Amino acid sequence: MSLEWRQQRIAKNETSFRDINERLESGLRQARHNPERLEFICECGDRECESSVPLSFEEYEVVREDSRRFLIVPGHVFPETEHVVASNERYEVVEKFGEAVDVADASDRRSADGRRSDSATP
Ligand SMILES: [Zn+2]
Repeated sequence: MSLEWRQQRIAKNETSFRDINERLESGLRQARHNPERLEFICECGDRECESSVPLSFEEYEVVREDSRRFLIVPGHVFPETEHVVASNERYEVVEKFGEAVDVADASDRRSADGRRSDSATP
């Protein structure tokens, strides 16, 4: 399969996981349920991945400030389409490049044309 096709497929998997996390977060906010950490799902490009990632609301919001950024379990990076921009013992944040950026921007529920964070390190 071509690199372009593969990059787009990975990005589509990741954006669909992001949709699920967005719904999870907004549902919990409406319920005024505010635990210290939420179990988000890993937004990596592996469709079969069922890992969860513990993050606070605040940490999640920082990741969401940029349409190209996704939240993953440490090590679940797909280097042909993204690179790690932040990491700690619980999670890593990856940023898309190349073809995948268009897919990630177009599918951001919070913005019609993609958002960019000012901070280089989320
Ligand atoms: Zn994963």
